[in-house]
Order: sequence, then structure tokens, then C-alpha cells
Amino acid sequence: MTEETMKIAVMPGVRQVEIREVAKPRPGPGEVLIKIKACALCTWEQRTYTGAAKGYFPLAGGHEYSGEIEEIGEGTETELRVGDRVTAGIAGCGKCYYCHRGEETLCKLRFASARQYGDLSGPMGLAEYKVAPLEKIYQLSNELPFVEGALTEPTACVVHAQRRLGIQLAEDVLVIGAGTMGLLNMLVAKARGARVMVSELDPQRCQRAAELGADLVFNPKQVDMPQAVKEATHGHGAEVVIVAIGNGMANKQALQAVAPLGRVMMFAAAHPSEELCVDPNWLHRDQVVITGSVSGDVHGFRVASKLLSDRIIDVSPLIEKTMPLSEIEEAFELAIRPDTYRVVLTM
Ligand SMILES: [Zn+2]
Ligand SMILES: [Zn+2]
Repeated sequence: MTEETMKIAVMPGVRQVEIREVAKPRPGPGEVLIKIKACALCTWEQRTYTGAAKGYFPLAGGHEYSGEIEEIGEGTETELRVGDRVTAGIAGCGKCYYCHRGEETLCKLRFASARQYGDLSGPMGLAEYKVAPLEKIYQLSNELPFVEGALTEPTACVVHAQRRLGIQLAEDVLVIGAGTMGLLNMLVAKARGARVMVSELDPQRCQRAAELGADLVFNPKQVDMPQAVKEATHGHGAEVVIVAIGNGMANKQALQAVAPLGRVMMFAAAHPSEELCVDPNWLHRDQVVITGSVSGDVHGFRVASKLLSDRIIDVSPLIEKTMPLSEIEEAFELAIRPDTYRVVLTM
């Protein structure tokens, strides 16, 4: 019997991507085989592709994906059925200090179960199939299009960050940057009942933010943004500031726009990273909290699956283009353009 194979996208180095043929994986006990239908190109894959962030080559990227269960490993107890729509996300090891604290994003062993194909490593979602352990599987509605289901992971990152911030009904939230992650932050904050202001330099992105429901949009090229935020908030400033772009000026303006007792979230990573200057006396007096967030946790994935499945938020306007896996190179070139939203590959 000849071995079944599948296609997988591999990055051998910076600005290189190719399709390879590898053995189709089979699920073992406690695992499922996902037939991947859609996978989005996240900022992390884009930065690895351009060389802006350090890459571990050859890399088999793709961590924002959705698909359907094709096979359930023998002897696996689950309510899931073959044909169910799913996405796979985070699961901590359950045994370490951070997992015991319910903080799976800090688990050192959370990638330990990743399958290896010879010299390939990575999340391997840019492929036709993937085996994942049951604890990483999150069910999606069978009515949710796969391309939208692929955005569960970025939504989970936002849900995780905003739970840390504890955004409350009617709070004034400022999101800096109206890229995919900025707009996702806006949509989730709106769903939490906040009043959301968006700061963005690009006029087209400003318009997109307004169309998708931003209460106020400021372009720092045209207005003194921190001042405009203060004027819109009875002189207080924003109670929550989410910095969704890795940029020194954005960080600086975040600290200027935040209200006393406010919270500032460094949501985006910056490459290169600029140092943040903070006056300790200002922190002392205004009692502002500066924090960060990375990745999605179990709660974030569960809630994100529901937000998308039950159409509590609509992520379809954040999808720039859908392309077949065979056009992966063109897809990367499109995704790395500063003016595009998520590019999604389909299999
Ligand atoms: Zn991502
Ligand atoms: Zn752990």
C-alpha cells in the first residue's frame, strides 16, 4: 500500500516559501485528524517571512486555522463527531506552575505536543491535514464559514487581553492602530459595552474603523490625539488604552491619553522594540496600570469560538482576500503590505 501524502507550506528561509509533500498524519488515542479548510497569515508568520523577527527555519507556520474533523483516534472519548467544524488553539500542560494558576499562555510546555516532520517545526496549519490533541480542539458552528473560523485564534488573543483589562460597560476605551488586531480589539470592546475611540494614521483605515462601529476616530496626523481623547472624555482621558501597533510613538501617546486610574495594554509586539519612558512620579500620582498580553488562553478560545459561531461579532470585514494554498507566495507578498487586512489561504 502506498503511503498517503498531503501538501504543507514550508518556509526554508527569509522571503522563501514552498509547498512540500509529506506523509499524511494519523491520529492516535486522544487525538483528532483535522482536514484543514482555511488558514490565515498572522503577523508572526509575516514577520518571520520578511526576516523582521527571528525565524527557526525550516518553519511550517500557520496557527490561525479551521477545518473539520476527518477522523477521531481509536479509543478516544469525545462528544465531537466526524464532520464537526473546529479550530485548534491553546492547551497548557496542566501540570506546571502557570497552568495551575490558569495562565496557559505562560506554559513552557504548551508546544510540546507539536508533531515533527523530519526537520520541520512550527504550528503546521498551512497544510491539508493536522493532528491535534483533543484538549486543543474548540468546536465551531457548522454554519460559520471556514475562512471566518480561521480568525478564532486572533479573536482569542483579544478576548484574553480584554479580560485582563476587565473592560466594563460604558468605559472609554482607546484603541491605537486600526489594523486587523486593532479592529478586532474594537469589535470585542464594543461587544463588552464600551465606548471605543480609535487612533489611526491611515485615512482609509480610519474610515474602516468608523464603518465597523468606532464611536470616535482620530488621525494623529490631523489632531493632537491625546488632547482630542481628553476633550471627548470630560478631560479625564481614556480609562483603557490598547496599543495594537508596535510603535514607539503609539506607546508614548498611549501614556498621554490614559486617564488617572486607567489601564494601558501593550497588545502588539514591536520589532525593533523601543524603550518606554515612564515618569515614576506620574505613575505614583495617577495610579495607572501598564500591562501586556500575549496569545489566547483556554477561556479566550472558548469565548472566541462562541463570539464567531453565534455571530456576536462579525469578522468577515477583516478578511482582505482568500487564496488557494498553491498561491502561498503571492499571499505572503499581499499580507506583508502595510495596507492589507488578513489574507486567508484555503485548502
Ligand atoms: Zn495569530
Ligand atoms: Zn503548563
